[in-house]
Amino acid sequence: MTKSVTTEISVEELRELDKKHFLHPTTPIKEQQVEGPELIFESGKGIRITDVNGDEYIDGVSSLWNVNVGYGRKELAEAASEQILKLSYGSSFFNQSHEVVIRLATKLASIAPGDLNVSFFTSGGSESNETAFKIVRHYWKLKGRPEKRLIIGLENGYHGVTMGTTSATGVPEFKNMITEIAPGFLHALPHQTECEKGDKSHPNYERSIRGIIEKEGPENIAAVILEPIQGVGGVNIPPEGYLKSVRDLCDEHDIFMITDEVITGFGRTGKMFGVEHWDIVPDLMCVAKGITSGYVQLGAVMMSSKLRDELADMSEGPMFHGFTYSGHPTACAVALKNIEIIENEGLVENAREMGEGLLKGLKYLEENHKITAKARGLGLMAAIELFKDPETGEGFAPELFAAPAVVAACKQRNLILRPLIFGGMNAVAIAPPLISQKQDIETIIEILSDSIKEFEQKVL
Ligand code: PMP
Repeated sequence: MTKSVTTEISVEELRELDKKHFLHPTTPIKEQQVEGPELIFESGKGIRITDVNGDEYIDGVSSLWNVNVGYGRKELAEAASEQILKLSYGSSFFNQSHEVVIRLATKLASIAPGDLNVSFFTSGGSESNETAFKIVRHYWKLKGRPEKRLIIGLENGYHGVTMGTTSATGVPEFKNMITEIAPGFLHALPHQTECEKGDKSHPNYERSIRGIIEKEGPENIAAVILEPIQGVGGVNIPPEGYLKSVRDLCDEHDIFMITDEVITGFGRTGKMFGVEHWDIVPDLMCVAKGITSGYVQLGAVMMSSKLRDELADMSEGPMFHGFTYSGHPTACAVALKNIEIIENEGLVENAREMGEGLLKGLKYLEENHKITAKARGLGLMAAIELFKDPETGEGFAPELFAAPAVVAACKQRNLILRPLIFGGMNAVAIAPPLISQKQDIETIIEILSDSIKEFEQKVL
């Protein structure tokens, strides 16, 4: 029996226990039940992760786009351990507080765009977005305008898996699990800059955010939510001017603009926050993932003190919203240290520089393979798409599972990437930790190239 490298329990036993007792997130249950888990991780260091068989992989997607500073950072372990020994838990309900949550809120205020200087803490991305939806609806209710409640998201947008965030999500597969979404969520076509600027003659006008606002009436719309760059929906980078056109549209109609920076926050795109590429400031900004580089669970919703003060002036009694782990001391201590690492090691700049190399590499793949097109990326958030015929845009038959096959071929070569296959797309996402170096990027491109070649030989 193969023994796990560092534990007494055998790999076979682990697999059986996994099958018996563990319901995995976003995994085909039957596949897990028949085959057991594909990988069982045991340790991680830098950009590499090792499984229980002792096989080492480059983590080319920072796990779930979240391990920004890489694995195994002693400073983060120490920050967590010191905080647990000092104050293991402290509630911030009922107007209580503790030092590390105050310091984190202050730090976030100093690095967030524009006037976003107040944070509400959560345990992750879904909770952050869900909180933002409740805050905007609460605001309009307090204003005596409860009908101003509709929330417009974008098709291919991803915002989480709670009821509200599932409903705001525009990737249809995530709605398959349920029969009914939460009321009051609508979806617009992404990246329709001309429509958002007011071009009513455009064929997509009715499906644009502006077209939907016009149809539903701005008096019924509470907010628009969008990712600066759509992640799960395909690493879709907006055209120049798009985010500004949405910002102006929201201002014009007194509608909140919520940006979901759960992936794009904390340096991923080569700026501290994604919106900084387009110089706009949202009304509410939701973050998670990279805030702690995935070492512990944390998310936040940021807003201006002006908005907070308006809520204060209109409120009577508490805002009945809060999670037991809102502002958990360990999470806050790790976040502070994580942000310090990102700043001290120049990881935002590194992501920008390495991202240029990564995109160059992907463009090279595009030119040198018959089935690749649409290489795109900003910082270390990138993707490339696979087509049977890139010239005509003809895709591969779904039964070929093109992107999953290429990703599986990468895994054979000890590189973990992620297929993005929603809506018939066959994209491969590449988003390594922000500490990646030139050699790492070259290795990723080389392995991806060999894996694409292997798939090409099978299907062409
Ligand atoms: N928003 C975006 C843009 C995300 O990518 C994700 C997670 N992939 C979420 C929200 C949900 O975050 P969580 O899984 O932490 O709830």
